[in-house]
Amino acid sequence: MGDTRHTKVLIIGSGPAGYTAGVYAARAMLAPILVQGIEPGGQLTTTTEVENWPGDTQVQGPDLMIRMQEHAKATECEVIGDIITDLDLSKRPFIAKGDSGTTYTADAIILATGARAKWLGLESEEKFKGFGVSACATCDGFFYRGQEIVVVGGGNTAVEEALFLTNFASKVTLIHRRDELRSEKILENRLMKNPKIEPLWFHELVEVTGTEAPLGVEGVRVKHVKTGEITEIPCKGVFIAIGHAPASELVKDTLATHMGGYVKVKPGGTETSVPGVFAAGDLTDHIYRQAVTSAGMGCMAALDAERFLAEQADT
Ligand code: FAD
Ligand code: NAP
Repeated sequence: MGDTRHTKVLIIGSGPAGYTAGVYAARAMLAPILVQGIEPGGQLTTTTEVENWPGDTQVQGPDLMIRMQEHAKATECEVIGDIITDLDLSKRPFIAKGDSGTTYTADAIILATGARAKWLGLESEEKFKGFGVSACATCDGFFYRGQEIVVVGGGNTAVEEALFLTNFASKVTLIHRRDELRSEKILENRLMKNPKIEPLWFHELVEVTGTEAPLGVEGVRVKHVKTGEITEIPCKGVFIAIGHAPASELVKDTLATHMGGYVKVKPGGTETSVPGVFAAGDLTDHIYRQAVTSAGMGCMAALDAERFLAEQADT
């Protein structure tokens, strides 16, 4: 049997939303506990330069997240390395089970579990995951020094990954299903000017090909979306950068969700469909999905939780 810990506010997630909620809840004297999950620091730990965090012209994503963690700790938010595996929101106090064996009970909960990389869903993609197929250039780019690689996608992540990978690769082919990127213009300009990057418009990846023993990627087969023509591109690495899906597994059956699993919050606020449960950041946001908007929502969630707890104390 593990320990049981009670807290006024349990924060689940350690991205910009979670840590900001931690700072605000701690400064409201709510002595919050923050559970970090499998990816301490969240999505920004998988990138390099962040150039749109106000106050920093340029900051490394992992460094920014360490600073946020230290800030939360300094305000006396208790930061715990654990993963919540089960959440009972049917009565208060709410009950969260930790993978460590600890049970957390809480008067209010702030969900800030963010989002995770999406995959194409191809059998060959699954087969070569970790053996040439990746969704994280920062984590795996180093393995492809002097090699040819492909990146799939047309958003900010795909463009940033393609640019970053030119630090290692001899050539990067950006495969996009349209002929228009949805990334910021400044990134698009950098991409177009980079001699190592070749965009391949109107193409979809249909198969990753490679060797069996040892398991390794040797190329991809791509299809022209209009003509159906199949082309083979030799490469050693395949980076899938087609977006992220909300990490709402814990609450998909207990909270109202929309737009493919995003937790629904009151417009302009962070209240979910269960009183006392608040949600912030990419978990709720299918539009903006930025570090700064997530941090802003983390602040709002802590203020909403504080107000909720004060109202409960009055009744
Ligand atoms: P996340 O950062 O997704 O963090 C979620 C947290 O929840 C993680 O700590 C995870 O461990 C935790 N968690 C999940 N499940 C559980 C569980 N069961 N128990 C406990 N904890 C759990 N935005 C910008 O503004 N500028 C950029 O330059 C930028 N670059 C990016 C580059 C890349 C490669 C990516 C992928 C994203 C980038 N973004 C950028 C977007 C930005 O990272 C996200 O908008 C932001 O991180 C979302 O913050 P969040 O706190 O909502 O969640
Ligand atoms: P995104 O903006 O949703 O873009 C996903 C891209 O992948 C789109 O171009 C989409 O094509 C393509 N795609 C989706 N499903 C596909 C499929 N099955 N097959 C082929 N292509 C597919 O996702 P993202 O780039 O990961 O960005 C997520 C959020 O994080 C955004 O809000 C973004 O602004 C933010 N972010 C910000 C920064 C920054 O500020 N520097 C950096 C990274 C991420 P279509 O265009 O045809 O739909």
